[in-house]
Amino acid sequence: MNMEKFLQSVMIAACFSWAVTCGASTTNDPPTSEPWPDDPPIMEDFVSEDHDDAILAMLRTPLVEYGAALESYLGEASANNRASINDQDLVRIYQQIRRATFAQLIYTFTRDNVQQTRVYLAVSGRPFRDLTQNSPHLHLPELRPELLDDPDGPYYRLVSPAATFASAGVPANSDITPSPVSPKDPTANHNDAEIRALQTLVREIASGEVVANGHLEVYVSRGMCPSCARAMARFAARYNVDTHVTSIRGTGEPREQTPIWRDFRAMREEMIAYLQHVFVPPAERGTTTAGYDAAEVLSGEDEDHPPRNPCHDEM
Ligand SMILES: [Zn+2]
Repeated sequence: MNMEKFLQSVMIAACFSWAVTCGASTTNDPPTSEPWPDDPPIMEDFVSEDHDDAILAMLRTPLVEYGAALESYLGEASANNRASINDQDLVRIYQQIRRATFAQLIYTFTRDNVQQTRVYLAVSGRPFRDLTQNSPHLHLPELRPELLDDPDGPYYRLVSPAATFASAGVPANSDITPSPVSPKDPTANHNDAEIRALQTLVREIASGEVVANGHLEVYVSRGMCPSCARAMARFAARYNVDTHVTSIRGTGEPREQTPIWRDFRAMREEMIAYLQHVFVPPAERGTTTAGYDAAEVLSGEDEDHPPRNPCHDEM
């Protein structure tokens, strides 16, 4: 498998699906998250099936871009020790790909009577170096001080002039921030894909690259947590943005799996197999990626969202 070819087919599929109305079957169950008290709730559709793969194409793009950035990072981290890398060195990377939330946000706005579109790709979870710090055969690349806030930034290529890979951070006066989900849990979900994408959009509105009063289509690989749903509702209200969210319904629980959840899981496994093929010599491959590890995937949850406490985010 070649990443460039893989990506090209994905981008074509994604561009095509932006141009047509998604034909996926959706259900209109009420959102599982509570609306932020001050702001009207936003609409979130949970999808079980994706007959023309339009939604999967939307989620595949951030997955492939994330894989390409990981490939670049691992290339640097393994440069001196390529022959001895094994599955154990990459086990947390595999877990992250299986559990992370992937999102694509498409923002359409009008400036000077011209309609423009910006795309924000995002993934949840901790920086690459955190996922590899206990990997004995990998050498963590030096972290320059200016990259402390966004250590993975240099590994992402420019997808297209209209698209960017999201990172966290907003101007000091912004309230588009994660919020503690309950009084008992004071931590907020800074590492979530949706909040990163929203914050990148807020920065671009602040800098004048894009303007408010637009339309936002959000595609996300799982239902939003209350923290992200609140931030999304606040964003929609503050910037007068008509916002619509499409999420995959389903979890790793056998009774809760849906066709689209299984199809996206297969894409995650493809990405893992690709990285293993590139970085782990056949002699060093264990059983980690033989099929998928049921225990790892069973929860279907984000690495940063352990099932018992679905909104807690370990920093
Ligand atoms: Zn969230």
